[in-house]
Amino acid sequence: MGVTRKTRNLELVLDAFRNAQEALSAQLLMERLPADVNRSTVYRLLDRLEDDGVVHSFLASENIKFYALCKECPPSVHVHSHAHFQCNSCSQVVCLEQEVVVPTLNQYRVDEAQVLLKGQCATCMR
Ligand SMILES: [Zn+2]
Ligand SMILES: [Zn+2]
Ligand SMILES: [Zn+2]
Repeated sequence: MGVTRKTRNLELVLDAFRNAQEALSAQLLMERLPADVNRSTVYRLLDRLEDDGVVHSFLASENIKFYALCKECPPSVHVHSHAHFQCNSCSQVVCLEQEVVVPTLNQYRVDEAQVLLKGQCATCMR
């Protein structure tokens, strides 16, 4: 199995993200993968994809870490500061196109901005 299996798991994880319209926590991701892909494999793959600039992570409600595919990050670097949205009813989390406007600070250098907007998604507002 070795390499073949590793590649298969990686492809499964990438497919899950491509098919999802939303960001995924490790738990949500596990639910979309075959039962034989174990938790530690999933965490290892997520770490690696994040290091490679393929997915980015952020904290949503209750400090649950979510992951989503990067659109334009060069290899190994993350260059975005878009906001995220979480629905209070269904807990769904999505990346927003909107960039967060970072204020200029005199005494501090800002490297990233994490903004989580919360409310109701289109489905829950119906
Ligand atoms: Zn990124
Ligand atoms: Zn919702
Ligand atoms: Zn995002």
